Formats: sequence, C-alpha cells, structure tokens
Amino acid sequence: MDCLFCKIISGEIPSDKIYEDELVYAFKDIDPQAPVHFLIVPKEHIASADDLDESHKELIGHVFLVAQKLCAEAGLTKGYRIVNNCKEDGGQSVDHLHFHVLGGRSLNWPPG
Ligand code: AMP
Ligand code: ZN
Repeated sequence: MDCLFCKIISGEIPSDKIYEDELVYAFKDIDPQAPVHFLIVPKEHIASADDLDESHKELIGHVFLVAQKLCAEAGLTKGYRIVNNCKEDGGQSVDHLHFHVLGGRSLNWPPG
C-alpha cells in the first residue's frame, strides 16, 4: 500500500521514533509546531477517525494512555494537547489515522 505512515512503521522510510509497542508507533513530527510535537499512529492502517468502528475501542484508549506516558517522560507537567485532524475539512494531510501530541508551550484556542 502506498501509505507514508505504513512505510514509516515498517522502517522503509526513516523516522525519529520515540516509542513502539504491538499496537502503536510514535515518532517526532518532521515539521514541529511546538517544542514537543510527536505523532502516535496505530500500526493497523486505518484511514481516518471517521473509519473507526467498535473493534477499535481498545486501540484508541491505548493511544491516549501512551500519550499520557510519553508526555510524562517529556516532562510536560503543565499539560499538552492531543489532536486528530479528520478528513478534508479537518485538515488531514496523511490518510493514515494519527494523533498529534503537542506541548512545551502555551497553546492557542480556538485553533482557527
Ligand atoms: P495531518 O495534517 O494531521 O494529516 O498531519 C500530518 C503530519 O505528518 C504533519 O504534521 C506533518 O508534518 C507530518 N509528517 C509528514 N511527513 C512526515 C515524516 N516523513 N516524518 C514525520 N512527520 C511527517
Ligand atoms: Zn497506512
């Protein structure tokens, strides 16, 4: 499959990996928008949040617990943001489900 994040997970395309387990792969965003900015990606190819179903409930809970653990390791005691951009209007540019995790500065809201 011609999917950038599947190729990153398989190692075909290099990445700055920060964590991996049987369900997810996490790596630094190539264009960071905050002092800490990494992506958590399910190893299963799921196109977007709009393609999730009941079988993915445990996976998505796991993503959030991995985010919490990695943010603790990064020292983000003042907080952080977990973002999913879903499909065209949500600003999704890579069609493999991923969660941005941003921190290390005060983040604006609303994002615009
Ligand atoms: P989105 O716009 O929500 O689909 O986010 C895609 C993210 O992937 C963007 O923040 C990009 O900077 C990031 N990205 C694209 N290519 C790479 C890459 N090769 N390694 C790391 N991050 C990437
Ligand atoms: Zn993929």
